[in-house]
Amino acid sequence: MDTDLHRLISVPSASLICVSSVFICGWFPLQGRWALLLFAMPETRASAYDSKIEGNVIFTRFDAALNWVRKNSLWPMPMGLACCAIELMATAASRFDIARFGAEVMRFSPRQCDVMIVAGTVTYKMALAVKRIYEQMPEPKWVIAMGACASTGGMYRSYAVLQGIDQLLPVDVYISGCPPRPEALLAGLMKLQEKISREKSFAAQKPELTKKLTEAVA
Ligand code: SF4
Repeated sequence: MDTDLHRLISVPSASLICVSSVFICGWFPLQGRWALLLFAMPETRASAYDSKIEGNVIFTRFDAALNWVRKNSLWPMPMGLACCAIELMATAASRFDIARFGAEVMRFSPRQCDVMIVAGTVTYKMALAVKRIYEQMPEPKWVIAMGACASTGGMYRSYAVLQGIDQLLPVDVYISGCPPRPEALLAGLMKLQEKISREKSFAAQKPELTKKLTEAVA
């Protein structure tokens, strides 16, 4: 093939492949407006800047965008087992308003939830039912142990009570108190949000795709 013609064909196609490997694009609602999110995989690659579209385009890493979406749309599975559940209910009411954190969508169907809030005394009779409900929740999922009973068995040092739900489930956040106030639950929720924002979501869940993308842009 003629050298110039070859260059003419190969350079644009190489650029196209490079660009499509580097960016994954999507439209997202943002504060009432639609914004184009460009997920830039390599953090070192220089990007063009156009001041005319400032405020409408966001550059970020895919992990950061994914974590941002997840942490602000946590749907709780309210596992209310005893008195702590009353405080959990109060957290959803207008005075404390858990909706400010995007977590007001409490579902009693485990397949629609991603954070289980264990609120109350976990008896052995209930423990396996709690575990089964947890297993029915889709990944990724998190657990908050709300109050002394869910965290450690509390004052019930008895043959009938599980001494902490962490013996059955991987707990992400423990909340102290008997019962914890709604503010404490909200603080626990914010701690969970911080934890989610540090997760390597994309790399952990799609290692093969991450490897291919890294190789493509290396
Ligand atoms: S921690 Fe206290 S308030 Fe909560 S379930 Fe146990 S006894 Fe009840």
